[in-house]
Amino acid sequence: MLNSRKYLSLILTVLLCVSMALFAFLPGVSAEEGKDVVVIGVPANRPPIFYIDEEDDQVTGIGIDLMAVACEKAGLVPKFVSITEDDLKDALDNDKYDLLMPFGSAIKSTKGKSIVVSDNLNQTPFTLVTEENKKLSSLNQLKVGMLASLGGVAETVKQFYPGIQISMYENMAESIDALRSGEVDALLNNSYVWNYTLQKPAYSDLTVQTSTMFTMDFRVGAVDTEKGRALIERLNQGISGVSETRRQSIVLDYTSRRLYRYEFSDYMHEYGLIVLLAFLLVVSCLIIAFQRVHELRKEQELKVQQLMDIDTLTGVLTTHGFRQKVQELLKLHPDTSYLVGYINIRNFKFINDSLGRAAGDELLRFLADKSSAALTEKETFARLEGDHFAILREIGGEESIERDDKEVMDRIRTYFTESGRGNRVQICCGLYVLTPEDYDKADVNHMLDCARVAEQRVRDSRTDGYDFYNPEQWKKGQRIVDIVNHLPDAIRDGEIQVWYQPQIDFDKKKIIGAEALCRWNHDKLGWLSPSEFIPIMEEAGLIYELDSFVWNKVCADLKRWNEMGLHRSVSVNLSRCDIKNSDDIPAHFDSLIKKYGLTPDQLRVEITETAYVESPKLMTDITVKLKALGFQVEMDDFGSGYSSLHMLKELPVDRIKLDLYFLTETGDQKKGSTIVEYIIQMGKALGMTLIAEGVEKIEQAMFVQKCGCSEMQGYYFYKPMNVGDFDKLGTEIE
Ligand code: C2E
Ligand code: MG
Ligand code: MG
Repeated sequence: MLNSRKYLSLILTVLLCVSMALFAFLPGVSAEEGKDVVVIGVPANRPPIFYIDEEDDQVTGIGIDLMAVACEKAGLVPKFVSITEDDLKDALDNDKYDLLMPFGSAIKSTKGKSIVVSDNLNQTPFTLVTEENKKLSSLNQLKVGMLASLGGVAETVKQFYPGIQISMYENMAESIDALRSGEVDALLNNSYVWNYTLQKPAYSDLTVQTSTMFTMDFRVGAVDTEKGRALIERLNQGISGVSETRRQSIVLDYTSRRLYRYEFSDYMHEYGLIVLLAFLLVVSCLIIAFQRVHELRKEQELKVQQLMDIDTLTGVLTTHGFRQKVQELLKLHPDTSYLVGYINIRNFKFINDSLGRAAGDELLRFLADKSSAALTEKETFARLEGDHFAILREIGGEESIERDDKEVMDRIRTYFTESGRGNRVQICCGLYVLTPEDYDKADVNHMLDCARVAEQRVRDSRTDGYDFYNPEQWKKGQRIVDIVNHLPDAIRDGEIQVWYQPQIDFDKKKIIGAEALCRWNHDKLGWLSPSEFIPIMEEAGLIYELDSFVWNKVCADLKRWNEMGLHRSVSVNLSRCDIKNSDDIPAHFDSLIKKYGLTPDQLRVEITETAYVESPKLMTDITVKLKALGFQVEMDDFGSGYSSLHMLKELPVDRIKLDLYFLTETGDQKKGSTIVEYIIQMGKALGMTLIAEGVEKIEQAMFVQKCGCSEMQGYYFYKPMNVGDFDKLGTEIE
């Protein structure tokens, strides 16, 4: 009993296994419906024939629907899958597919397997597509582009048109590029595919060549095996059952619908210009908006600034504005002599009380108007608070303050008396003359404080008028102004003269030349020393004007002496600042001697040692150029403190003017003498001539002579003299 039970269960188990094996080895048999499931591979990249439906991710299309009907008729359950291979020929070698489609005819797999194909499922139209208006010759002579996945079709076409040249492309975009570049004459594909593809806006320039239309079969294939043959045979029965009406309705369903879905690039192609214009419009609006916001902010800032900087009652600057403006002006005009004035109306409270606040305001406005009207661009004026005002004024000539007092202040003083309304207004004014440090620090509060101290002094004295905080500074500034402003008149009126100080050879006891030194007999200030006015002229940028006058005068004298048969040489001084005014000093000297018919050895050029120390490259270049033109170049004031002895060997000068003044200044005669001795020795060793200047005593003359320097200049021999006296000198030392 047990045995027969065991036997039964064994038979059941074997049956179960066999049936499972059957299901496993014959996957086409559906256990549920009793129908055979067939896996059908299709290239899903050919809408509308085969494509993936975005909604359910299933393969769909004309080919799918046709095949589904045929399978249904054949009692097969189709399972459509998208092939993973590049083309159908490759897919034939993959046995995961029971069937593959579409084929035009029976071809071989990539590995050479033969296939069996079904009956024609549908007569599929194929057409050529070209660029618009392109005329085509016969198919047999064309270069045609096709998609790589249509390898099978390509083979069939080749069989029909052996002369055709077919190029395969990976995708539609590539093939269309090839068409547009002229690589191929036309593209060949299924008409249904063109129907779909040409819906893309970017391909609107392509035309379907209806005249070239031909049909291809649309068959299903399987590898030529027993199983394949059986399946195809079964399928053929199904295909024969598909009515023509059904076929057409399927095709119509897909070709009449607008299946093509717009991508971003299509929208851009279609509406790109509009999008671009809209974008530009938005960007322009944004830029305009930003600019407006920026402008508004600036306007606001300006308003706030004005509130801070401009006094609402008078319209002149506030203390804050004044501070900034002064700093700005000092930076812009560092060479202008300025003073800061502190102006205060005495007893202003009384004016307000007696004449009313409106009259007080009127006076303040009048004062501000009159004072501002007198300003130049380099000056400024402000209301500090109440009845206190400040001014930054350029220092003019001596009379300028008197003039301001008369023309501006007097009108304010008489403001009420003239209209018969009240008494004379008293104005107290403190003046502070800016010092060089003020230009560096630009501490406006300090300047106002000082001016206020002077103003206080005027107020305390119970008078009105003005006073200086630093009168000595004022006098100094005044003197500078008088010197600077008067130069053109001084040259014209002969106030400036060229004097000559003879230079001698102590060995030969002979006059060997002279140095030209200018003298100024100022009409107001009397005799001025060059040590005072030369630096002022340099500072004011006027030295070139002065020196040009001197050089011309010297050349004129030399010419006159030449005509008298006296071939003299004169040293002229060249200021470092002359170089700033003339870009080519050597050329200027050259033209001067040509103009006066002199030889270059007659004009020696003295350049101070300081100039060489401060601008070595520039001064050396000028020296080289001067020498190349035949002039002698002398280094002036050597030993006056800045020199470095080793500098001597670098410089191409002809003569050193050894400054003996430092001997007297240092006090240590012994050390000084040793230095002089060594400088002379070194200069001589370097092949330079030396002249000792500032020789005041015979002992000094004897000493430098003993050291080997016989050329000298100094008060011991001659002081600088006017040209009349110099004319009287002979060649021997008197
Ligand atoms: P510097 O070129 O070194 O001229 C020599 C200065 O020494 C002259 O002063 C001269 O009068 C003075 N001197 C000559 N021998 C003696 C002496 O034995 N003892 C003393 N204590 N002084 C003596 P000066 O004429 O006052 O000129 C001063 C400086 O002004 C000159 O020094 C020169 O650098 C400059 N200078 C003079 N005239 C001109 C000019 O026309 N153009 C330029 N750019 N600078 C000039
Ligand atoms: Mg000199
Ligand atoms: Mg000198």
